[in-house]
Amino acid sequence: MKRGSWKIRIFIGLAIVAFAFVQRCNNKEENPYTNRVQNINMSSEQEIAIGLQSKPEITQQYGGLYPDEKLQYLVDAVGNKLVENSIARETPYQYEFHLLADPNTINAFALPGGQIFITYALFSQLTEAQLAGVLGHEIGHVIGRHSAERIADGSFWQTVTMGATVGADAGNIVGSIGQNTLLKNGRGDELESDDLGVLFMMQSGYDPYEMIKVMEILKAAGGSSNVPEFQSTHPDPENRIEKIEASILKYENQ
Ligand SMILES: [Zn+2]
Repeated sequence: MKRGSWKIRIFIGLAIVAFAFVQRCNNKEENPYTNRVQNINMSSEQEIAIGLQSKPEITQQYGGLYPDEKLQYLVDAVGNKLVENSIARETPYQYEFHLLADPNTINAFALPGGQIFITYALFSQLTEAQLAGVLGHEIGHVIGRHSAERIADGSFWQTVTMGATVGADAGNIVGSIGQNTLLKNGRGDELESDDLGVLFMMQSGYDPYEMIKVMEILKAAGGSSNVPEFQSTHPDPENRIEKIEASILKYENQ
């Protein structure tokens, strides 16, 4: 290696890192529904498009839609009730609720833009109010724009890591900071969605304490089954239940 070339490498590395930070600052915007300032680099139209594009593949992964139309209709009815009675109605998102056939995987999740899914394995354990809790939580992920935020975080840390790797051997260090940041934000996402889920339940006339029962059902299932909504990257159940109780008291007093 030529003398002085390390200086050029560090300069290029720093320039890339600086670029990542400037880009991140430019991407800041306030979420009009949660009032939280976020780093987002896509429009709601793009979020909707990503969700619609991913829907067939995701549905396939969980064994397709549950064949009983009556149960599908119940999921739609509860989901739409939550949307109609909350701020979700005023968002540009296109909400669709899907009951997936998978009888083993206890899961529910949201794609960006409003595509929301629950597996039959989870659905079959819930009362209507608890189903409202789960769907309300997932609507919270959509309104909170959590997927879009993760995507923006991902490209930010990719750029920073690239800069650090060019500049020095600090790639691993920066890489680990990036991952920790993602995990921390992941916990925040769950808590924000729990909080919004509680609010949406109350606005639709459901008992918000049923959300705590949902946590207990997920906790009980956590030992034996595959529960992606409730993995170790998520807040621990006791902490989550405490926060849900605090949300209920907060909204009861409003
Ligand atoms: Zn969640």
